[in-house]
Amino acid sequence: FHESFDAFFEGVPEDERNSMRQAYRSLREGPAGNYQITYRVQLENGISRYIESRARLYRDDQGNPLRMAGTLLDITDQVEREQRLSASEEKFASLFQVSPDPICVTRQDTGQFIEINPAFTQTFGWATDQVIGRTAEEIGLWAESIERAQRIERVIREQALSNVAVVVNHRNGAPLTCVISSRLITVDDQPCSVTTLRDITQQQRAEAALKSSEEKFAKAFHSSPDAITITERHSGRYLEINDGFCRLTGYSTAEVVGHTVYELGIWADDKQRAALLGELRDRGRVHHREMLGRNKRGDILTVEVSVEPITLNEIDCLLLTARDVSQLKNAQAQIRHLAYHDPLTNLPNRALLMDRLSQQIALLKRHNLRGALLFLDLDHFKHINDSLGHPVGDTVLKIITARLEASVRLEDTVARLGGDEFVVLLSGLEGSRELVEEKVRELADTLRELLAEPMTLDGQRLQVTPSIGVALIPDHGTTPADLLKRADIALYRAKDSGRNTTQLFHTTMQKAASERLRMENDLRLALARGELALHFQPQVDARDNRIVGAEVLLRWHHPQLGQQPPGQFIQVLEESGLILEVGSWILDEACDACARMLADGLIDADDFSLCVNISPRQFRQNDFVGRVLRSLDDYRLPRQMLKLEITEGIVIQNLEDTISKMRELKRYGVSFAMDDFGTGYSSLTYLKRLPVDALKIDQTFVRDAPIDPNDAEIVRAIVAMARSLDLAVIAEGVELTEQLEFLEQLGCHLYQGYLHSRPLPLQEFRQMLMEAPADY
Ligand code: C2E
Ligand code: CA
Ligand code: CA
Repeated sequence: FHESFDAFFEGVPEDERNSMRQAYRSLREGPAGNYQITYRVQLENGISRYIESRARLYRDDQGNPLRMAGTLLDITDQVEREQRLSASEEKFASLFQVSPDPICVTRQDTGQFIEINPAFTQTFGWATDQVIGRTAEEIGLWAESIERAQRIERVIREQALSNVAVVVNHRNGAPLTCVISSRLITVDDQPCSVTTLRDITQQQRAEAALKSSEEKFAKAFHSSPDAITITERHSGRYLEINDGFCRLTGYSTAEVVGHTVYELGIWADDKQRAALLGELRDRGRVHHREMLGRNKRGDILTVEVSVEPITLNEIDCLLLTARDVSQLKNAQAQIRHLAYHDPLTNLPNRALLMDRLSQQIALLKRHNLRGALLFLDLDHFKHINDSLGHPVGDTVLKIITARLEASVRLEDTVARLGGDEFVVLLSGLEGSRELVEEKVRELADTLRELLAEPMTLDGQRLQVTPSIGVALIPDHGTTPADLLKRADIALYRAKDSGRNTTQLFHTTMQKAASERLRMENDLRLALARGELALHFQPQVDARDNRIVGAEVLLRWHHPQLGQQPPGQFIQVLEESGLILEVGSWILDEACDACARMLADGLIDADDFSLCVNISPRQFRQNDFVGRVLRSLDDYRLPRQMLKLEITEGIVIQNLEDTISKMRELKRYGVSFAMDDFGTGYSSLTYLKRLPVDALKIDQTFVRDAPIDPNDAEIVRAIVAMARSLDLAVIAEGVELTEQLEFLEQLGCHLYQGYLHSRPLPLQEFRQMLMEAPADY
């Protein structure tokens, strides 16, 4: 090149020129004599060429640059080739890096990993440095049998693999299904394999889930007991129906599919159908709507329908489910009847009564009228059940029902609350309160007379009388519960005042009732608080004034109210069941006290009776006999010293049970006295069968016997009866010498009463024994 230096650089772009100058400068100043540089020149026609320049610098003897000699080689083709290659390499590298599918490159000869991409790490958990230089087998990548793993490896090494499903282990051991493909490539002159592994586990699962849900749906569709159809929404054409539909309508599949809802005339009522479509339009679906359908024979069916829009093969369809509810409705009605009626009498039960009562209360209020709630209870019904059997009891209840229903107006309700309890709800009573009261009383009395008519059952003549409690609506309450409670309180009073009567509720009764409740609550604590005590009333033989026994009487000293009347609180104990616990305590206490008196020589085992009152509830306990014997044994009291006072109330409840318990106790030496004799049934029939030892003449007869010939006659009869049955007889409540004299005339010498002594606390009774003549 013989031109100037500048001319040489003319075709070289500005930035290249700088680097060339730089190269020359360092060549000139540096020690090396050689120079190599590649640069670009621009030809006149505008084409760029890459030139590789190699040159040598020659210097003179002083070391000054003399000349440069070298070669210029046009390497444009080579440069462009390299540029193309690096671009494709870059592309490959970035593809490799960002591919969502795992890719690995392995050596063909050894199978060792050369490279893995981030997706490989992400999918299988292996980091690059954990796999490079190791083989798939070494890291346990294949979750396949050894043979299959080896076959896969072989194919990967020897040839290309395309879309083969293989199970691959995640580093944590979880198996993943992958589709793998491989190609042979050369990397750094090394034959290698590049393998992509696409994880299809999720996809597979989703597919399996879809398939099973489709299967489930098909199964549910076909085997459902409900009728299910799929119809085209716009045409109403049936696309698919199930067996349930055929069963319900009587059509076969062929008669339905392809036809429309209208052709079949499946809906019986056009208005209903319009309403169904309306709901579908407004709400998007229909949920449990009752419809009238028509089957093939033209019968009308009551069905419950649900409709759900679905898309099938891009067609808008309706999935309709229908269930025959005619039977269900019948069953429902039946259940409702059962739930609201008493099965024996078919009368409304408590639930229905309460329902009607609340309706009535509102109705009466609106019309400014009165109503009345009559609470009836049959007197001594339990006696009928126990002595004549439940079938007879049931028949009596049915007869009573019929009589009640016949005697009230149609708009009145007769209900049975259970047992022998009935309620009559009278409505729409006009007039002043006095007038209504009068009317209701009259009606109640008529009812009582009607019900008391004798009935003949199995040749037996029976008579039942009711007691009735009445509450006026709204005078005595404005809620069903209140009214029922108050009628019940009035009934309680009716029973209390001698049965077979009617009582109208009065606020004072409420007071009595809450009084009773308070008493019950206080009694629950009385025993534990030591408020109960026993008193002893001497029983005396009038001939020598000897004490031959004592009646044990319960006392309750209330901490605030003081001494309580036994007649009342013992009834509460009995009704609340507390008597069981208290009764056991009484027996224990009495036996204990008696055993001590015996040990102290105050009484004689053969000549003293410890008389303990037993209440019906107590006597009915299954283990009553055992309890009595246990008390006796616990305190080592000779068994013949104990005399149990029972009442006719005990006997009539269950004669057989009474007899067997008495017999058993008698075998152990315990004896029995019939208390309050003359006031109850005093039936000679059962008296003959009962193993009693003594009769106690009730004090009501004793009181007036000296002056009232009637009472005198009764006492005489009782004494005679006792004598003929070979029973002892003892009089209670003897207060006056005249009474005692009268009794002694008849030959009744045993008595207890204020004449001799009031019931005494134990200590005073012991004192009395100590002072008594000791000649027994
Ligand atoms: P009851 O078995 O007829 O007891 C006799 C009642 O007559 C006792 O009344 C006694 O205090 C009373 N009395 C005794 N002598 C006379 C008298 O000369 N004149 C008058 N007016 N009364 C006399 P109390 O103690 O009030 O007992 C009433 C009822 O309570 C008893 O009648 C009995 O049925 C029951 N009761 C008392 N204690 C017990 C007991 O421990 N257990 C059970 N289950 N009932 C008991
Ligand atoms: Ca008694
Ligand atoms: Ca008595």
